[in-house]
Amino acid sequence: MSPNVASDRFDRPLKDLRVSVTDRCNFRCVYCMPKEVFNKNYTFLPKAELLSFEEIERVVRAGADLGVTKIRLTGGEPLIRRDLEVLISQIRAVPGITDLSMTTNASLLTRNRARSLRDAGLQRLNVSLDAMDDDTFKAVNDVDVTVQTVLDGIDHAAQANFESVKINMVVKKGLNDHSILPMARFFHGTGHILRFIEFMDVGNSNAWDLSHVTTSQEIADLINANLPIRPAKANYRGEVAKRWEYCDGGGEIGIISSVSDPFCGDCSRARLSATGSIYTCLFASSGYDMRPALRSGDVNAVREALNRLWSIRGDRYSETRTQVSIIRPKVEMSFIGG
Ligand code: SAM
Ligand code: SF4
Ligand code: SF4
Repeated sequence: MSPNVASDRFDRPLKDLRVSVTDRCNFRCVYCMPKEVFNKNYTFLPKAELLSFEEIERVVRAGADLGVTKIRLTGGEPLIRRDLEVLISQIRAVPGITDLSMTTNASLLTRNRARSLRDAGLQRLNVSLDAMDDDTFKAVNDVDVTVQTVLDGIDHAAQANFESVKINMVVKKGLNDHSILPMARFFHGTGHILRFIEFMDVGNSNAWDLSHVTTSQEIADLINANLPIRPAKANYRGEVAKRWEYCDGGGEIGIISSVSDPFCGDCSRARLSATGSIYTCLFASSGYDMRPALRSGDVNAVREALNRLWSIRGDRYSETRTQVSIIRPKVEMSFIGG
């Protein structure tokens, strides 16, 4: 481990950095970028304001010096960012980074793109898919993309030999909770781990309400009644998804209880926005602008700023959201990534 490992006020190390490479997306998922907000009147970031790959690499290098081993590329839709393969190979060359993954809606994941991402050094992929039927999926993405488009992307990823291809399904009650079982049945036995994510109150645009959350327990009970499952051991401390395995050997699923059973105690994640701000919590109202340190061109300055920021971190939003009613502005998920 790095001798300079960063640790926050609750002794949580910094291990994970999520890098948003763009705030733009070709989907308008109703729980993330609803059209009422993200329409032609919405101002996305001008290209000139996005961090360059060199700047992103500098933050990754500083993070690695402080103990970061995992990088996840996200957005917005990361595949919209040009030449992502260049960034991927730059990050892979940073000593200490052992796990490089990306979260994508896979709609732009052609066979060639999957191969070039893999060749550049991307190790794992998480693909978001929220339903198995077009009516529901289109009601979620709101831009008429079909389920088959995403399934093709998943096939391309499988053929490109990523170390793993996981599927993420956000469950919003009344929107797509009827798709839990069809999704479980479809991915059962395929080798792709399906992970169910409770609908979260990220950002200010998605009109979140506790009554729209299908809890982990409800998800597990529903699946268990149809495809029996039993709990499986966590792979490592701080694993976000609770693992379950099918009793018939059909593989495993994961359930992420961000709302009903939060996991802030082990949270070792920081997020870098596309404009160079660091957020120490998904639910933060503001980030810390790294650009002044980045512009100095000196990795030491970036490392010191990151270390200072992490050392005063006391975030545990998910553990407190139900104790007090917190009404404050929060950053949008499409801005800092999931
Ligand atoms: N566009 C890419 C995608 O959808 O995979 C990457 C960015 S997206 C913000 C990352 C993840 O956040 C996706 O799996 C998405 O489903 C999830 N997400 C977005 N809004 C959410 C919400 N309100 N609650 C839970 N998960 C959410
Ligand atoms: Fe785009 Fe991903 Fe948000 Fe959907 S969840 S709108 S695909 S960024
Ligand atoms: Fe981490 Fe914040 Fe989520 Fe808690 S609420 S798990 S501190 S990102």
